[in-house]
Parts: sequence; C-alpha cells; structure tokens
Amino acid sequence: MKVPEEPCQCSDCLRFYREHDRLIREFPTLRKQQEINWAALQSFRTLCGRVLEDLQKKINSNSYNQSEDNCIQKKEKSIMKVISDLENINAHLYSIETLMERVFDVKVPNEVEEIFREVAGELAPDPLNIDRLRLNRLLHQTPDMPEK
Ligand SMILES: [Zn+2]
Repeated sequence: MKVPEEPCQCSDCLRFYREHDRLIREFPTLRKQQEINWAALQSFRTLCGRVLEDLQKKINSNSYNQSEDNCIQKKEKSIMKVISDLENINAHLYSIETLMERVFDVKVPNEVEEIFREVAGELAPDPLNIDRLRLNRLLHQTPDMPEK
C-alpha cells in the first residue's frame, strides 16, 4: 500500500483533523475519552432510534400503503430503504456498545493519566497558542512547491 507523503488537505480532511485534535485537547485522559465516546455513542443511538420509530410510525399509519399513486409508492419504497439502513446502523451501534463496555471497564492510575495528558498536549497543542500561530503563518508563507 502506498502511503501519501502529505496528509490530504481537502476541506473534509481538514475538518476531520481539526475535530480529531479538538477531541484530544478537550478530553486528554483515558477517563475523559471513555466518557466522551460513551456519550457520543449513546447520543447517536438515541437520535437514530427516535428517527427510526418516527419513520416506522409514518409508514404504518399512512395512506402510503393503499395508494395506487405511482409517485407515493416510489416514496414509500425509498422510506423503506432508509428504515432498513437505519435498522442496520442501530444493530451495529448496539454491537459497538457491547464492545465499548469492555473498553470502559479499564481504569488506570493517576500517573498514567498524567502521561495521557502530556501526550495529548504534544499531539494536539492549543491552536490559539502563540507559537503555533506563528508556525502556521510561516508555513503558509512558503511558496508553492513545484508539482512532482
Ligand atoms: Zn481529503
């Protein structure tokens, strides 16, 4: 597998790097990572679950079923597809939750949490930190490299 030399700079990837670093910066210990990831998983499940219920209710109660209208039948089909996709997501989230419970049983001593904090600070320094701002400015002044 060929590894790209430069990390991709498209807007999706840039957003991902920012979010990734922010999560390290704001949740710099094992405990905090466990908590934020648990909360993220649960909120994901809650939201998907409710939308799924809502769609199922709509499909069951609606005139959709009996309608001869072609357009409405098409719409019903597409909603059925969405329902099955969401059911799949929910099933996967449920499996992830079971796995995560094991990850979350682990506790480490405070000295190790301190190492987490140190490493987090190295991996994701404060973007508003003055040194980092200066470095960014320098990097952005570099003239474009010729295409390889
Ligand atoms: Zn990209």
